[in-house]
Amino acid sequence: MAECVFCKIAGGEIPTEFLYQDEHLVAFKDINPQAPVHFLVVPKKHIPNLLAINDDDVKLLPAIQKIIVQLTGELGIAEGGFRVVVNTGNHGGQTVPHLHFHVLGGRLLDWPPG
Ligand code: 5GP
Ligand code: ZN
Repeated sequence: MAECVFCKIAGGEIPTEFLYQDEHLVAFKDINPQAPVHFLVVPKKHIPNLLAINDDDVKLLPAIQKIIVQLTGELGIAEGGFRVVVNTGNHGGQTVPHLHFHVLGGRLLDWPPG
């Protein structure tokens, strides 16, 4: 999608250091981190949010889970624990309309969220 920031990042139009990349997915640090470790796992395909996932897209979910496990280990937050967040729609606080999984760790996180 031409004006989508995450399509531009995934497509290499905005130079970004990837923590992980393969044919279908990329992971990179959030530009405005909310915890000592805060990265995003993002499908290369423009999927607006969780509600828009089709039967084919759903096959990405186990791969996303695997990348999260791999990167939380590599970045040293697996043992202490972390949080995975998928903000969805207006009440969910979604600001970028391209599906992404936040992974936050490296400090004690409050619950419930604001
Ligand atoms: P949302 O609010 O949609 O759940 O999350 C969007 C996230 O994308 C925010 O945490 C925001 O800081 C991050 N973000 C927005 N634009 C960019 C960007 O250009 N580069 C990176 N690395 N992160 C971005
Ligand atoms: Zn997009």
